[in-house]
Amino acid sequence: MNRKKIVAGNWKMNTNLNEAVDLINTLKTTTKQFSAIEKIVFPPFTFLKTVTDSLQNETSFFAGAQNCSEYVKGAYTGEVSAEMLSSVKCKFVLVGHSERRTYFKETDEQLVLKIQQAFKNNLQVIFCFGEVLEERKSEKHFDTVKKQLENVLKNFSEKDIDKIYLAYEPVWAIGTGETATPQQAQEMHAYVRKVIGEIFSNKAAENISILYGGSCNAQNAKELFACADVDGGLIGGASLKADDFCKIIASF
Ligand code: PEP
Repeated sequence: MNRKKIVAGNWKMNTNLNEAVDLINTLKTTTKQFSAIEKIVFPPFTFLKTVTDSLQNETSFFAGAQNCSEYVKGAYTGEVSAEMLSSVKCKFVLVGHSERRTYFKETDEQLVLKIQQAFKNNLQVIFCFGEVLEERKSEKHFDTVKKQLENVLKNFSEKDIDKIYLAYEPVWAIGTGETATPQQAQEMHAYVRKVIGEIFSNKAAENISILYGGSCNAQNAKELFACADVDGGLIGGASLKADDFCKIIASF
């Protein structure tokens, strides 16, 4: 098994220009020693070019966007297209984050279109999914995750899947301080791999990187990353503090 180890930081709607510059400069220096781990940050759109410029000579540290439009171009006020992201050397885009699904009512159909736009513009995708608390309590979490994966990924080929990382983010753990236990994370990640095997092939299942997200921090990352099917983390709050993000990267 030779899957990449990845730590991604979702800055959400945080930082101003000076803070974004400080954060990326500090992270570039402090994470230098971890060249075997792929680092990705997702700054707000307005600071993306500044961050990609800053990372232009890096070989294992990249920038991504938190969202992209499902449309190509034109009269869609406020939207940012995948082509625009590509033109500022953005390498990744997050699709399906629970905050986009919940607050902005993004549907599976829209997520498919967003991924298609991303691929057309040479962007790699981190596809996020995960159950809400009621679904976990009523033991529907496996069904929910299966549906989220099938509804979107069935529209793509096995070759496309090479350009996707998955991020299992139980909604009850995002920004709440409550993390999935390593057992819960491992159990779900192994299940996700099984579903990918059913949709595509065993080879695709074995090769795809699956990140865990949801209150992952400098204290709990080590235990989570030690799980056989956890290939890294998608970090929200703790990615805004350079020290913590660096400690999380050092947890592998
Ligand atoms: C996220 O937004 O993807 C996330 C995991 O947030 P947090 O780490 O703050 O729970």
